[in-house]
Formats: sequence, C-alpha cells, structure tokens
Amino acid sequence: MISNKQAKENISKKLEEYGYSFDGDFEAFEYIGYKKTYIPVICNNGHHYNVRYPNLISKSKCDKCHKIKVSKYTSNTEAKEKIKESLEYRGYKFDGDFDKFIYVNSKMIINLLDEKGEKINLLYDSLTIKSKYKNKTENRKAININIKSKLKKTLEDNNYTFIGSFNRFFYKKTNMKITVKCERGHQNTLSINYFIKNNVCRDCKKENSKRLKKPSNH
Ligand SMILES: [Zn+2]
Ligand SMILES: [Zn+2]
Repeated sequence: MISNKQAKENISKKLEEYGYSFDGDFEAFEYIGYKKTYIPVICNNGHHYNVRYPNLISKSKCDKCHKIKVSKYTSNTEAKEKIKESLEYRGYKFDGDFDKFIYVNSKMIINLLDEKGEKINLLYDSLTIKSKYKNKTENRKAININIKSKLKKTLEDNNYTFIGSFNRFFYKKTNMKITVKCERGHQNTLSINYFIKNNVCRDCKKENSKRLKKPSNH
C-alpha cells in the first residue's frame, strides 16, 4: 500500500490535470487503501461526485459531463426527426417555424402546442425519450391492463376466484399482495407476480405432498 502522502500527491496531481477540485478539506482527507478510498470531487462544470482512488487515477472523468457531451453529439437532423416523431405520437404541434429550429442539446426547451392548441414547454429529453407514453399515468395504466389480463387468464385457467373487486383492482408493484381462492376452497394471500408465475395453491400443495409422503419408520 502506498503512503497517505504519496496517494494524496497523486490525487492532487490528477485533479489539477483535469481541472477538478477536491470537495472538502484536503488536509484532513486520508487515504485508506487502493479500492477503499473514495474521493469527493467537484468537476470543472460544478458537478459533485465521489470517485474511487483507482478510477480517478486511471482517468475516469465526471459521468455527468460525459452524458451531456454524448447527448450533444445528436445531430440536428437526427434530433428533428425524433421531435417530429414524438409530436405525431402525442398529437402536439411545434410552436414556431420548425424548419428554422436548431437543436442545441438534450436539455433545451421545445415550445409546443398541445392537442387543444395550448402552449406548453417540454425539455427535449422528456419530449423524445418518454415518447412511448404521454406520461407516467398512462404508462401505469398500460402496465395495469397488461398485468390484469395475465392475472385473469391465470385465474380462469386454474379455476381460482379473485377475492375482492377485480374491476377495481389496480396493479402498483410486483410484490403487491392479492387474495385468491382455489377450487378446493383454500384462500391464499400471495404476491401477484408469484401467483402469475407459479399459480399453485399452497394448501393444495401441502395436502398433495402429505398424501404422497411414504409412511415413516415406526
Ligand atoms: Zn461534470
Ligand atoms: Zn387449494
């Protein structure tokens, strides 16, 4: 293991090379081992993050800056294609002269008119990346419909009864509990995903395995 002094020299050399600064009191900072040491850093664009000693030394630069750089490389043509596609999907219109529009980066604001012709502003990112569903609520609705149809099929195929109102049931997360009754009348409360995957009644399973067990030695 290199000394604290040596490590700190390496760190400050690297930070200087990148134009980054140490986030905190460098005097009080202590090197505690090659992989154990996390260095709090502020990059030249003001992003705060922690980086492991070997990563800093091996030229790992700020992730956030990297992401911004990558998204900047989207060409104007490409970006405009994406915007057009998304507008069509959502039924929105570009507010202004789209031919004159120039893409700058993914954090730029796009001025739009919604279905009702009202002005709205959306970040390029939120307009294009989440274009599959207009918003989270619709996304959740779509997932709910999908899971409920799977659940319905599992119930029907195995002669289970759903306890409670199936119509009012809304799927929220994978470990959400439901109560179902098997054809022999056993009630089971189990997670919806477990039920869809395994569709076994725990009580029936127990009874079956008891029946199948060989008599033990007397
Ligand atoms: Zn940065
Ligand atoms: Zn059962």
